[in-house]
Amino acid sequence: MEKKPYVLPQLGFGYKDLEPHISEAQLQLHHQKHHAAYVNGANAILETLDKNRREGIDGDAKALSKAFSFNAAGHLLHSLFWENLAPAAKTTPKPEGPMAKAIDSEFGSFERFKKEFSQAAVSAEGSGWAALVYCRQTNRPLLMQIEKHNTNVIPMFRVLLVLDVWEHAYYLDYKNERAKFVESFWNIVNWQIVNNRLEAILK
Ligand code: MN
Repeated sequence: MEKKPYVLPQLGFGYKDLEPHISEAQLQLHHQKHHAAYVNGANAILETLDKNRREGIDGDAKALSKAFSFNAAGHLLHSLFWENLAPAAKTTPKPEGPMAKAIDSEFGSFERFKKEFSQAAVSAEGSGWAALVYCRQTNRPLLMQIEKHNTNVIPMFRVLLVLDVWEHAYYLDYKNERAKFVESFWNIVNWQIVNNRLEAILK
């Protein structure tokens, strides 16, 4: 198998298409600068590992693995995030199908789920993410609050829906009002993709 670098994915919509919930300037900056930096950061570490091995140099294993985890997880989470967004006019305000059933069964109602997910997002200290994930051992959709990109992540829990609440995700549009950004997010969730992810897990 040929090795290949990480690549910044194209968005499935135009930079203006999430307005007024996420502005063109905010989305462009987030995708082209912040996400791209994680892609480049992860690739740079892979190159360092290759070089160290080629030249017989001892790398700083602790620093390299920490930086790699941060950058690679940043890249992968952003890729999941863009995919689970959609222009408001092209999506539904609530899930339908298996995701709707799974949410009702776990949380009691969509409103309760929305409240708990929003609380996880709003209360993340510093930089982090809220995530709806699926645990195959318990057959339950569960919430994770991820610190940075890579702390409090549970291996084997599969991601259904993520929301980036780093300041870089909303500061141009909402300044320090993260809760307003989180409230707006619910208008642009791509429930079709979330359902597809759940179906792939349950298959
Ligand atoms: Mn981000």
